[in-house]
Amino acid sequence: MNIPTQAQIIIVGGGIAGCSVAYHLAKMGKTDVLLLEQGKLTSGTTWHAAGLVGQMRPNRNMTQMSKYGIELYALLEAETGLATGWKQCGSVNVARTPERMKVLKKQVAMANSFGVECHEISPQEAGDKYPIMRTDDLQGAIWLPGDGKANPADLCMSLAKGARNRGVKMAEGIEVTGVITENGKAVGVRTAQGEVRCEVIVNCAGQWARQFGRLAGVNVPLYSAEHFYIVTGKIPGVHPMLPVMRDPDGFIYYKEEVGGLVMGGFEPQAKPWKMDPIPSTFQFELLDEDWDQFEPLMTAALHRTPCLETAEVKMLLNGPESFTPDGNFILGEAPELRNFFVCAGFNSAGIANSGGAGRLMAEWIVGGEPSTDLWDVDIRRFGPFTGNRKALAERTGETLGLHYAMRWPRQELETARPLRTSPLYDILAAKGAEFGSKNGWERASYFRPEGMPRPGHTLDKPGWLPWMIEEQKATREAVALYDQTSFSKYLLQGRDALAVLQRLCANEMDVPIGKMVYSAMLNERGGFESDLTVMRQAADRFLIITGSAQTVRDFDWIKRHIAEAEHALLTDVSAMYSVLSVMGPKARELLALVSPDDLSPEALKFSWTKEIDVGFARVRAARMSYVGGPGFELYTPIEMARHVYLALMEAGQALGIRDAGYYALDALRIEQGRRAWGAELGPDETPWEAGLAFSVKLDKPADFIGKAALLNAQGLTLRKKLVTLVFDTGDAFAWGGEAIVLGGQSVGEISSVGWSPLAGACVALGYVRGDSANQAHAGTPAQIELWGERVAVKLYDRWPLPAKA
Ligand SMILES: Cc1cc2nc3c(=O)[nH]c(=O)nc-3n(C[C@H](O)[C@H](O)[C@H](O)COP(=O)(O)OP(=O)(O)OC[C@H]3O[C@@H](n4cnc5c(N)ncnc54)[C@H](O)[C@@H]3O)c2cc1C
Repeated sequence: MNIPTQAQIIIVGGGIAGCSVAYHLAKMGKTDVLLLEQGKLTSGTTWHAAGLVGQMRPNRNMTQMSKYGIELYALLEAETGLATGWKQCGSVNVARTPERMKVLKKQVAMANSFGVECHEISPQEAGDKYPIMRTDDLQGAIWLPGDGKANPADLCMSLAKGARNRGVKMAEGIEVTGVITENGKAVGVRTAQGEVRCEVIVNCAGQWARQFGRLAGVNVPLYSAEHFYIVTGKIPGVHPMLPVMRDPDGFIYYKEEVGGLVMGGFEPQAKPWKMDPIPSTFQFELLDEDWDQFEPLMTAALHRTPCLETAEVKMLLNGPESFTPDGNFILGEAPELRNFFVCAGFNSAGIANSGGAGRLMAEWIVGGEPSTDLWDVDIRRFGPFTGNRKALAERTGETLGLHYAMRWPRQELETARPLRTSPLYDILAAKGAEFGSKNGWERASYFRPEGMPRPGHTLDKPGWLPWMIEEQKATREAVALYDQTSFSKYLLQGRDALAVLQRLCANEMDVPIGKMVYSAMLNERGGFESDLTVMRQAADRFLIITGSAQTVRDFDWIKRHIAEAEHALLTDVSAMYSVLSVMGPKARELLALVSPDDLSPEALKFSWTKEIDVGFARVRAARMSYVGGPGFELYTPIEMARHVYLALMEAGQALGIRDAGYYALDALRIEQGRRAWGAELGPDETPWEAGLAFSVKLDKPADFIGKAALLNAQGLTLRKKLVTLVFDTGDAFAWGGEAIVLGGQSVGEISSVGWSPLAGACVALGYVRGDSANQAHAGTPAQIELWGERVAVKLYDRWPLPAKA
């Protein structure tokens, strides 16, 4: 087959993801698009998907994405003339346990808040909707009338037709075997049929996306697992509009097909498909049956739908599908290579998500940046270490099951850990630290007292709460030590370093040497790309500190904004420094015991830094506190961290020093109203909405990205506003994501919540939308929807309120 030698955009892969990206690019006017498929369209994974299409995702933006996809699928046949098999049959999700029912109730509240129709129904009502199901053991269920099902291969072909109709070229039987790069940019592909030059490549290669990415030096961390369903013959009572049914406690789902059932699921311990590399000839192929692996699903299904006892099982389908380390798909421009985009790793939800993901990908390509906050699926959430194949295989065995497993609040993934550790890891582990993982770093969540068993998971007040309260108490009343080594840290050096920072940051960055500045880094829409602290170390040298999760993302954002002619070098120095945070009213007293340097408020003002001795080490002390109150962050060369820690701990015994973890840290920063990127701050929130106007200097001489948008929005009605919620009672314990109810209406969600020693109850942060965003709140009574119950809270624009003079 002849292929052109040039196209503006090349899409690699003709599954549903590639066809959806092509369709949306064409719809946005990009028609010089060439899609290359090594086999036939749909021949990878798409052809054998079950075809369940649900709308609910864990957050607002992702739910909007899925909702859009469904709207598209409903209209596509009319547009292209090709049937999609789309049927809005609705879906029923059932709960076997009280805890699962609480989770479903939370979903109802979230769905209502996100504009998705969703109702709680009784076991009997569930049985009415799904008569072949057994309901005597159910706690309840939810009903989503807008959900449905489609025929994946037909849907994909319909998208392909819509793209072709607008001018997209699609070539089958063309394997892309190489990527041509020039000056850090993707400029073309190699195939056995010749080279094709282009401006943009989109990797939609499904389970091949990791090995295809590697051809371009791009990390696409995904790995295949064997994935199963059975197909039965006709069953009485099973008809085309029978809803989709999910029984997550049994790990199973059902869909009607030709009068019979497709029944599959997500077993807790999955089976990675250890095929490396995956051959390009794996087209319209399946893997061998494995009834042992399917057994837990079959047992659960026989229980839930006894009609299966006598039904004819036509086949056990086993097809590979790719999964990612966190169970979310991968979208965006690769940080390693400009103009190389990835849209892959759909974790068995590619049919439901590709409609929306294809549009988001096309918007990102056409607009040069994501149109909305896509952090959950952004390729830049993965560091290079995530490409390790042993880790990927083990993690895939775990993430497949997460679809239906009961997910407890703060539950951590267990595989491929520990990996990235601070020099204090063993010491803290020996002292009872229970670790959580962020961007691969092991971080103490809390310290378990000797002899106490590890608390079990719960939706209610956690067993670790009293221990964490002790850590908080030490922070507020004496001194506590937090290991914050996992912070992302970069050095920006060179003649133009200041000019780059002035352009990227909304605050004034031209500060004296030794000073630290907190600033927003905004996009053109005035939304937070990051919030960061910058320490000026010399006229032309700055140490930039950002959150642990954003190492790749923030590096990428800063790097791509350094112009070719500018002399500014960015280096990731995260692993060079430990940050030991000494927090509390006795912090200065403690440092005086281990350092001869003067750290009095006159000698070291708030937000200033200086090099000091600690024990035998030299560290840079910064007078800073994320938890609020007095405190110092010690930027310590990593090889001296152990020494500094031991010196502080030894001297601190007399002062009541305590190790403290991230649960305490997070709860205390919430109490003090400190925002966190990824929770309160993201690309969709402006400093006006986030209440961070103080960190923006509109009158600084240098222009900065986002300034025009902020000026435009100044004084206008707010779309949303960050508020503090103080719980009326100390009996309730929330975890985040709960709907905020004002005047009976759902007006937003909680972004972060923690236990506040000051309130003796939970305190939360969250955005309120609409009218309530433009009203003042100084104790406004409201409620939150906690596992289906309404809990009284008060809303404050600012809490604690400033003391009266
Ligand atoms: C058993 C099973 C049940 C499922 N059920 C559902 C469901 O109910 N709902 C749902 O939403 N999802 C479901 N899925 C998931 C869904 O099938 C996938 O997420 C989706 O098909 C992925 O689409 P894709 O376009 O990313 O990948 P693919 O369909 O695999 O497309 C990628 C294409 O890239 C091509 N390619 C790769 N490398 C190259 C190269 N170098 N050059 C040229 N071409 C290349 C491949 O040949 C392939 O055709 C299920 C999956 C399985 C296995």
